Amino acid sequence: MSARPGVVYLVGAGPGDPGLMTALSLELIATADAIFYDRLIPPGALDGAREEAELVYVGKQPGVPSVPQEEIGERLIEAARAGRSVVRLKGGDPFVFGRGGEEGEALREAGVEFEVVPGVTAGVAATAYAGIPVTHRDDASAVAFVTGHEDPLKEESAIDWPALARFPGTLVFYMGVKRLAQNAESLIAAGRDPDEPAAAIERGTWPGQRTVAATLGTIAAAVEREAVKAPALIVVGGVARRREQLAWLERRPLHGRRVVVTRARAQASGFAATLRALGAEVVELPAIRIEPRIDSEEVKRLAGGVGAYDLICLTSPNGGRLLFEAMEAARLDTRALAGVTVAAIGPGTARALAERGVLADVVPERFVAEGLIEALEDEELTGTRVLVARAAEARDVLPDALRERGAEVDVVALYETVREQPGEEEIEAAQSADYLTFTSSSTVTNLAEALGDRFPTDARIVSIGPITSETIRARGLEVDVEAESHDIDGLLKALLADAT
Ligand code: SAH
Repeated sequence: MSARPGVVYLVGAGPGDPGLMTALSLELIATADAIFYDRLIPPGALDGAREEAELVYVGKQPGVPSVPQEEIGERLIEAARAGRSVVRLKGGDPFVFGRGGEEGEALREAGVEFEVVPGVTAGVAATAYAGIPVTHRDDASAVAFVTGHEDPLKEESAIDWPALARFPGTLVFYMGVKRLAQNAESLIAAGRDPDEPAAAIERGTWPGQRTVAATLGTIAAAVEREAVKAPALIVVGGVARRREQLAWLERRPLHGRRVVVTRARAQASGFAATLRALGAEVVELPAIRIEPRIDSEEVKRLAGGVGAYDLICLTSPNGGRLLFEAMEAARLDTRALAGVTVAAIGPGTARALAERGVLADVVPERFVAEGLIEALEDEELTGTRVLVARAAEARDVLPDALRERGAEVDVVALYETVREQPGEEEIEAAQSADYLTFTSSSTVTNLAEALGDRFPTDARIVSIGPITSETIRARGLEVDVEAESHDIDGLLKALLADAT
């Protein structure tokens, strides 16, 4: 659904895990003219916004002056009246302790049309990620969402402690850390059992989510001792004990491990997503960037003549993709390769080719240049014309070996890998990494040079294969794990085997 001009959308962004954003929220973010967002929205939540969209931060931070609530309302009204489509993006659900009700009222009063897009509220999400079902047939047939921190301007407490003490079910306190000791005391004084299980869930669904378990009588001391900070939920009820059986987040194989991914940003996302799905906290520290040489006349000329080769060897997925781009620039499609034998260095490269409708004729068992040479052993190469399409800085093993066997070899550099300077924040996060993953020699060399003496030497080093390992050792570093299969799946397997 596209955001309509003149309409304000009160949108919930969920509790923090980007995967818990609704499809509707993403569609509206992608189409809105203006987005007014809060502090506790998921990382990357605004990545899909239009380039021209106005992004306005109106969040509240404890102890920092913020945009007053009336002003937020006024600005929403103003933007909508100017004919813009407006998303008001809030953490969790907009109508659960999100002041979405007030904003809706202000909009209605001003005659501005609005819609509400619910989000996954922390009260059910953080609890679920902590392995605590808010209801359970044996423990709780009701659940109450309670604010643990009331509006300080209210004269009388709106919280009816005796009623909450009698409430036959789970109590979930939002904003409950600061006043936890008082609130727990009030509940006990009103008759709730101090031995009832309780838990505090910090940063639920975010990387580094933490749960502290105690009882109603001891939860305040436990939270103080463990220095639990907002955002956190406090859960009171028998269901809190179910966690002993139901905790699942912590059981994921890479839970609590910080893993650095050094691949080029454009290629890192799939690998990073897989690592995250296994519970890892991923730090993306791209050491290299792929610079296509697609415009160069040489590439065009070679691409124009691809059909004249007997064999084309592609030594990386990038090479595969870029060859097709070069061919397209020369107004050629896959038909130009009809009579050509195509060799891919590994399954990733073969996949990149398959995406363009070309099935590789040769894929070696070992995904290095030497493996490709072995795989070509049975081909008669004397007098054949071979094109090796690869990175500018690649090793010469393959062309040399092919020439030795009598082939006439052209080498085309389709791209260069150039150094990328990783961000400061990422470098900082990498300092406490458990694993550094290297997928090529160039990632090793460039990361080492980019980081200098801030290279995280305590992390275990995982290498994709022998060539990369050699480069690592040449830098005086130790290879802790080397993949058996020299591709991303192999790297992942090796990392998992080491971590579990
Ligand atoms: N509208 C939001 C709540 C905003 S009030 C929602 O529906 O979730 C802010 C409070 O929500 C925090 O003080 C905390 O108690 C809770 N909260 C929000 N995100 C949380 C998270 N990821 N983990 C634990 N508690 C969270």
